[in-house]
Amino acid sequence: MADRSDYDVVILGAGLAGLSLAVRLADLPQIRTLVLEPRTHSPRDRTWCSWRLLDHPFAPAVSASWQSWEVMRRDAAGRPVAASQTSAECPYDMIPSDRLWDVALSRLDRAPQVELRMGCRALGMAERTDGVTVTTEAGPIEAGLVFDSRPPPPGPPGDFVQRFLGQEVVTEAPVFDPSRATLMDFDVPQHPGVVHFLYVLPTSPTEALVEDTWLAPAHVPLPDHRAAIREYLGARFGVTAFTPRFEEEGAIPMSPGLRAPEAAGRVIPIGTAGGAVKPSSGYAFLAIQRMADELAAGIAAGRRPTPFRVRSRTASWMDEVFLSALLRAPEIAPHLFVSLFARCRPEPLIRFLNDVGSPTDIARVIAAMPKWPMIDAAFRTPPPLFGR
Ligand SMILES: Cc1cc2nc3c(=O)[nH]c(=O)nc-3n(C[C@H](O)[C@H](O)[C@H](O)COP(=O)(O)OP(=O)(O)OC[C@H]3O[C@@H](n4cnc5c(N)ncnc54)[C@H](O)[C@@H]3O)c2cc1C
Repeated sequence: MADRSDYDVVILGAGLAGLSLAVRLADLPQIRTLVLEPRTHSPRDRTWCSWRLLDHPFAPAVSASWQSWEVMRRDAAGRPVAASQTSAECPYDMIPSDRLWDVALSRLDRAPQVELRMGCRALGMAERTDGVTVTTEAGPIEAGLVFDSRPPPPGPPGDFVQRFLGQEVVTEAPVFDPSRATLMDFDVPQHPGVVHFLYVLPTSPTEALVEDTWLAPAHVPLPDHRAAIREYLGARFGVTAFTPRFEEEGAIPMSPGLRAPEAAGRVIPIGTAGGAVKPSSGYAFLAIQRMADELAAGIAAGRRPTPFRVRSRTASWMDEVFLSALLRAPEIAPHLFVSLFARCRPEPLIRFLNDVGSPTDIARVIAAMPKWPMIDAAFRTPPPLFGR
């Protein structure tokens, strides 16, 4: 590709987006690729969950899968209300980060043209018309193209953030049903201005990943997630003793108006930095797979890649309307999500939630939503036609 360069492609970061692109470039022997990662090893630090909507190279890393899931709340009279869905076509998969790492490494090991350099941090970049100089702790590197997955800086304190802590717990008594995941249980203490739910992914009768999630402005003090998990396991499953064997934590920005960068030069943002995270849900796994497919296909075809927009302007606007309705009135969240899962068939809803819904899917989802909060939010949210 580029004669003067040490590498045709340099990828900054061996996280999800960096590795997703690197394993695809492993199929292109003519492209000299370098992946730079400051960490010296890859501990398990997160668990990716996502519906199986498309084929991707990390299928061998799936550790558990559910064809049935539910979303729950309690109504004003104190009665439990649950919406259950089953889909053999789009199961919900779990991928622990260490397993994904192993799959990626075994692919890169068989691709001599792709080099993974651990313990090396990118410090800056200078872009020219014919290439990019990447400054690193170990000296400069010349690249034809740079894909940059370094995490973007946090937003202002007023911005909404999805904050969560998950524990993989082991209980003494068999209390979980591993055939069914709980995607959202709103039957937990609610707080003004906050959307609060728990998430239970059981992998055996005595093991589950349990996550306590808060959607709230960044300035709201951090909740005691561990206490919330303990109380929840007691209240719902009668668990008094359990052992947490793994813990993960995250803070994902979810402000309406987050946009994919428009830059189109030799430095292309990918992953979270490239707008892959869906603001209303915090999901990014599938968007990052679509992004990596598209960018690698462009490179294979000899095209100069441009930033990949993971969702159309209309899908971004709809996400913004949905999120604005939720953030203006967080107390509607339990009713909103339970009605969506109760009134919509799983596959159209899953496609919609992952920004690959057809017009019919979108119409079905709109029909299943409570109308007034959405209409109100739609009037307050400038449509894509009027700029931005
Ligand atoms: C705990 C947690 C759980 C999540 N669970 C889900 C989920 O279930 N489903 C889902 O769809 N999404 C999930 N997400 C959201 C999203 O999928 C992940 O954040 C995903 O890892 C984003 O991929 P990324 O490559 O953009 O960022 P990362 O995976 O964070 O990778 C960024 C990489 O850049 C490296 N880096 C940093 N600085 C430099 C530098 N100066 N030079 C070079 N490299 C650098 C970092 O070390 C890191 O390896 C989760 C996020 C977290 C935090």
